[in-house]
Amino acid sequence: MARTFCVVGAGFSGAVVARHLASLGHRVVVVDERTHLGGNCHTERDGQTGIMVHRYGPHIFHTANERVWAYVQRFGQFRPYINRVRAIARGQVFSLPINLATINQMFRTTFGPAQARAFIASKADRSITNPRTFREQALSMVGPELYETFFEGYTRKQWGCEPDTLPASILKRLPLRFNYDDNYFNHPYQGMPEAGYTAIVRNILAEFAQRIDIRLGAAFEDMPETFDHVFYTGPLDRYFGFRLGRLEYRTLDFERFVSPEPDYQGTAVMNYCDADVPYTRIAEHKHFAPWEQAQFEQSVCFREYSRAAQAADTPYYPIRLTGEQPLLQKYEELARASTGVSFLGRLGTYRYLDMDVTIHEALLACEQIESILASNGAQ
Ligand code: FAD
Ligand code: UDP
Repeated sequence: MARTFCVVGAGFSGAVVARHLASLGHRVVVVDERTHLGGNCHTERDGQTGIMVHRYGPHIFHTANERVWAYVQRFGQFRPYINRVRAIARGQVFSLPINLATINQMFRTTFGPAQARAFIASKADRSITNPRTFREQALSMVGPELYETFFEGYTRKQWGCEPDTLPASILKRLPLRFNYDDNYFNHPYQGMPEAGYTAIVRNILAEFAQRIDIRLGAAFEDMPETFDHVFYTGPLDRYFGFRLGRLEYRTLDFERFVSPEPDYQGTAVMNYCDADVPYTRIAEHKHFAPWEQAQFEQSVCFREYSRAAQAADTPYYPIRLTGEQPLLQKYEELARASTGVSFLGRLGTYRYLDMDVTIHEALLACEQIESILASNGAQ
């Protein structure tokens, strides 16, 4: 029997689930308060320069999940792209993630891999056997010099708190290498969608478009209808009207500027690790699409500033401070006790999820749709 579902959020999570429901013959309303598809991964042409920009910050697709890699490629061409990040710290330009070039430059050494490994091991704090915080993780991995140069100031700016109040998992995202491989990610599959992420999301929704009613610029809270079931990819606490309090997020301010030079910084992402520089990084967007960059005479860049999100701000990074766990657990209990709704995605589950994990979890939810509907009270 065909049912009518609501999918809140037109990012990857929402699009994957909406497509699946529509493919089963159901009607789906996809609602997003933004005026475009793609959620936080949205890409669009800059009005002045024509360069494709990642409106809500740089997004590089990377995964080890073959199913997810195959899935996204059904909806658009991915060009090979390797994320190579540079960082300005203490008056020098380094390569990140920390690799042999970073180590040799930092310590003015000429180590080979084995020497560098032994040297960093001698710096690492061996008394920390089970690192729990970001700071402990960093000190036990690379020792104080590299921690203070690359992580301490940047992390304070990015998260607005001391690194010893953040979970170790945040740093575990980054590789540490004792060769000259400066690929920011370890994953075997990495790429950039040729026509941008929003085109991928549009294509995910396209095949069953006759059963998908997309409503942009509209908030779920203002919808008059009721649905057989709601798949909610917005903020978990918002769904419940913040009735238990607010989960904390970091938001980002992007300061756009156009460089008259065709190449402003020579690379896509330059991190600024020193605490006295107020922004965390500058993204120069033409470098995310190297296959077309020669055609643009100017270059558009964004300085990225991180701050605590207020009620009206876009939530970007869930903070998940240790002290916040009790509030999160109460919301999770509320979510489990609620019928007619499932929570998905970065905001719906309040987790620091990359695109591939988001898509993977949405695909798993699709596989379990009948049991989700049965256990959540859908008729
Ligand atoms: P979202 O994309 O956030 O979509 C949720 C949508 O729901 C939003 O569009 C929002 O407007 C809408 N919404 C929320 N509440 C309501 C409501 N009540 N009514 C109507 N609409 C609502 N991942 C990577 O893999 N690689 C990267 O390089 C990378 N870089 C990132 C950089 C930054 C700065 C950030 C913040 C994230 C980055 N990510 C990256 C993660 C990536 O953005 C997420 O994995 C992805 O966006 C999650 O998709 P989603 O559909 O769960 O959520
Ligand atoms: N980080 C840092 N210095 C850097 C880059 C990263 O201290 O130059 C820390 C920071 O706390 C960041 C975390 O490592 O949040 C993970 O880095 P990643 O590049 O994955 O952050 P994201 O791309 O999610 O902003």
